[in-house]
Amino acid sequence: MQPPAVSTRAQAVLEDRELFIGGAWRGAHSGRHIDSLDPATGAVWARVGEADEVDIDDAVAAARAAFESREWGQCLPGERGKLLRRLGDLVAEHAASLAQLETRDNGKAIRETLGREFAVISEWFYYFGGLADKLHGETIPLSGDLQVYTVRQPVGVVGAILPWNAPALMFAWKVAPALAAGNTIVVKPAELTSITALALARLVQEAGFPAGVVSVVPGYGMSAGNALAAHPDVDKVAFTGEQSTARKITQASIGNLKRLSFELGGKAANIVFDDADHDQALAVALEAAFIATGQSCTAGSRILVQKGSYDRFVGEFVARAQRIAVGDPLAPETEIGALVSEAQLQRTEEYVASAIEEGAEVLCGGHRVRVSGCEDGFFYAPTVIARVRPSMRVCTEEIFGPVATIMAFDGEDEAVRLANDTPFGLTAGAWTNDIRRAHRLSQRLRAGTVWINTFRVVHWAVPYGGIKLSGYGRENGSEVMRSYTEAKTVLIDHRESRPSWFASSDEA
Ligand code: NAD
Repeated sequence: MQPPAVSTRAQAVLEDRELFIGGAWRGAHSGRHIDSLDPATGAVWARVGEADEVDIDDAVAAARAAFESREWGQCLPGERGKLLRRLGDLVAEHAASLAQLETRDNGKAIRETLGREFAVISEWFYYFGGLADKLHGETIPLSGDLQVYTVRQPVGVVGAILPWNAPALMFAWKVAPALAAGNTIVVKPAELTSITALALARLVQEAGFPAGVVSVVPGYGMSAGNALAAHPDVDKVAFTGEQSTARKITQASIGNLKRLSFELGGKAANIVFDDADHDQALAVALEAAFIATGQSCTAGSRILVQKGSYDRFVGEFVARAQRIAVGDPLAPETEIGALVSEAQLQRTEEYVASAIEEGAEVLCGGHRVRVSGCEDGFFYAPTVIARVRPSMRVCTEEIFGPVATIMAFDGEDEAVRLANDTPFGLTAGAWTNDIRRAHRLSQRLRAGTVWINTFRVVHWAVPYGGIKLSGYGRENGSEVMRSYTEAKTVLIDHRESRPSWFASSDEA
């Protein structure tokens, strides 16, 4: 474990980074920049180049050239693996400074960026580095004369479009498997949080990847993102973000029918049965609802508690939520930091106001928090809302703020019905000590991941992704390699001679 990071805000560092294209650093073609705000202060703390269509064209051309090159195109899988493991080592070595950058850019508490995220991000590069030379095809026994097998080949040039809520983690989730399979990749980070992707690009360079294998082009979604999604020479887009953006990407992608994989939002139910271990359920439910300031697609934002334990559970949950330390994200004692932007803060306020209007009751929170030394930051108190109905917006839409709703249910059927009553299907969780019920729930809950007696466990070796409006395709584990490779089928006929279909030509 690294030593705790110390605040550098007092040093008034202005990070200034450009675009990383084809192995070189350069300014945007337009000469324009994007200012990045520190969510803890609301002040500009960094600026990055603003890529447009021309820069995307250049990055895609560099990625295509690298894909076709001898150096990368014929690089042995084991060598790709070594490069990825070297990158993992560099990420681990620089974890403390990268976590600082992430916290400055995104507003998430340093105890999370350093203690949780950068504590493991290098593992993605190690795991997929290890997988690089284990991408086997199949042999298919048809007949003695015909040898049939498949090989897994890279899809080509990948465009990765990232969200702002976990910028470095999402970079690792996409870059590591894409490169393990032998693809090249153009990464467009979110306009609010491009800094760690650019910092990771420096490490890609230092690790020794050939030029053009990875490019990082910050820019806005409507211009750079759309250009990447529409580009005729991009073979696949891997996207994490809003479902409305996924629709636009789908439309942009139709020109060359590129492959798509989507990790979209979630509205996970976290179900607590009377027979559960309530101490554990409480602690984990609190974390699941409020970590990352609730800006997490895995947030356990819909808590369902069985009637027999509802009052006790809610009382204790609210008491603990009120004790959460909201504060300067760089301070090691801070438990939750700032929301990413004023817009996200206002969006959270609007959801809470809509719940009150619709007759719900705010049990705690429901207001901004003034943090000493960060008076202009985007802080909001952990908020618990009760007396909700499933049709209310706070129950159906993803808030992406520190807001949890809490509802009572009678029995298992009602819990399942409420849990599945959502257009999303990313994750769901339940707490029970009844082994039969645990197995039943794992079948009945409609989500890409079901957690029983735990929540929000995400691991490089475990497939992760959604159903319904939460997207399609899986990240992580060997499963993700399906979406970064194509199966090529090879049929070899061993026969020395064969009859012709056309008898007349045999006779001639
Ligand atoms: P967003 O969709 O607004 O933006 C995501 C990215 O898409 C950004 O890089 C943005 O610039 C780009 N973009 C925007 N418009 C585009 C367009 N027309 N064409 C191409 N690219 C475009 O999402 P966000 O607000 O950054 O992220 C929050 C969302 O992401 C939430 O809904 C959250 O649930 C989801 N998310 C999902 C997962 C998951 O694994 N399922 C993980 C993290 C975040």
